[in-house]
Amino acid sequence: MMDPIINHLKTSKHILVASHTNPDGDAIGSLIAMGLALEALGKKATLYNESPIPTVYRFLPRVDSIVNKLPSDHEFDTTIILDCGELDRIGAAAKQAGQTPALINIDHHTTNDGFGQWRLVDTSACATAEIVYRLIKELNVAFTQELAVCIYTAILTDTGSFRFLNTTSSAFAICDEMVANGVEPYKIAQHVYGTFSIGRLRLLNLALDSIEISLNGKLSMMTVTQRMLKDTETYPEDADGFINYARRIKAVRVAALIQELQNEKGRSNGKRKFHVSLRSDGTVDVADIAASFGGGGHVAAAGFNLDTTLVEMKKTLWQLADKL
Ligand code: 5GP
Ligand code: MN
Repeated sequence: MMDPIINHLKTSKHILVASHTNPDGDAIGSLIAMGLALEALGKKATLYNESPIPTVYRFLPRVDSIVNKLPSDHEFDTTIILDCGELDRIGAAAKQAGQTPALINIDHHTTNDGFGQWRLVDTSACATAEIVYRLIKELNVAFTQELAVCIYTAILTDTGSFRFLNTTSSAFAICDEMVANGVEPYKIAQHVYGTFSIGRLRLLNLALDSIEISLNGKLSMMTVTQRMLKDTETYPEDADGFINYARRIKAVRVAALIQELQNEKGRSNGKRKFHVSLRSDGTVDVADIAASFGGGGHVAAAGFNLDTTLVEMKKTLWQLADKL
């Protein structure tokens, strides 16, 4: 499956590499790792992500080379899309990216729609970075410390520090190899988990306080509003990982985090944009639930966006509880 991609990459010259908006550690780690590997092969790589890079990932090497706009005079012969179930997940550049001569889809989401000319989609991979790791091996590129840091961070964060359902023996094996290549686990953990701002801690306080539980105890709901972000002087990325607290509650099978997104002023219909993150204990396929709202993800972690009111949003989610 990998051979045609390897052969193609060896002949390509300028490659666009992109990952999903509101990136997590896997989206950013895989993106930079792919870029470093292509550079090692003597290729020109443009790394693209539409969203700001969360502060906790700004320690990663080459993070400043990621662009949020495509150069107008670009001439990419190939595009690699990472960690996206659908091409649209990269945001506004999707149309342009889809028009490059060769499109490669590298992903591990169960809801991947199979876009692209070539696909390396493996839903058993613990992270997209695992597939990127395999590709880099096949390309015979050495794992420098910089590369190792990116792969390690991606797997560490996508497995929730080796706690989530996708924690496999390859997750440990690859990370062990990355440590042998110079990664210092304590340092990465400090950057990713040990650098909360006081505002972020206060936001966590508000988010914990917002937790509600369904009558049958199987669904928990957490809400983060724009007001909370304003009051604590924080950003949406600061709520990353908070949903895991709602999932930890005994007997809870599905946890939902409703995040109010930034809304244009003067909307008259009272509706607002929301992002909903879903997590399950593994007994419920939340990718399925997210897909029914136009989103996607994995069995135990998924999400979707919806235009509605907060009251309606909650009502819709409470209805899910009865089916659990
Ligand atoms: P979260 O909702 O916590 O940001 O993301 C959980 C998982 O679901 C991630 O793997 C993410 O890529 C996926 N996901 C989140 N939102 C969407 C969406 O709107 N569409 C799709 N296809 N996947 C999503
Ligand atoms: Mn991922």
